[in-house]
Amino acid sequence: MEMTFSIIKPDGVRRNLVGSILGMMESAGLRIVTTKMIHMSRREAEQFYAVHKERPFFGELVEFMCSGPVVVSALEAPNAVVKYRELMGATDPKKADKGTIRAVHALSIGENTVHGSDSKENAAIELGFFFSGTELVNRAG
Ligand code: GDP
Repeated sequence: MEMTFSIIKPDGVRRNLVGSILGMMESAGLRIVTTKMIHMSRREAEQFYAVHKERPFFGELVEFMCSGPVVVSALEAPNAVVKYRELMGATDPKKADKGTIRAVHALSIGENTVHGSDSKENAAIELGFFFSGTELVNRAG
């Protein structure tokens, strides 16, 4: 059993897509271990996306991620990291496979509705950034 970390980004929360996106996760076999709504500070968004610090879109990305509330979740399944990346679809919604969250809901390459960890190592780091051990008691494995 594996866990991954997900964010429903501000554009998804703003457009009232939380229920339908959590539903897509559950339908794909990703169990919701825990979930909560938060509003990231600029500092938190900068820290979370620190790997992208040198990219030209970093400022825009940080601005967007703290522009409104987001829904963070821990998801569990066998191969959860890869499974959720497949469900999200490509970063650019124009390139995302049909039926993926980004193909269905994303507005642009920046406002692309969801984040998902890209490796098991990053999943552990990102889960630890937003959740305490006591919030993850519902995990199976
Ligand atoms: P992901 O793993 O599919 O989310 O993609 P990346 O790790 O490459 O990028 C992280 C996030 O930065 C993406 O989900 C987008 O929100 C944002 N991003 C990536 N490329 C661009 C871009 O060219 N322009 C803007 N504005 N944002 C981007």
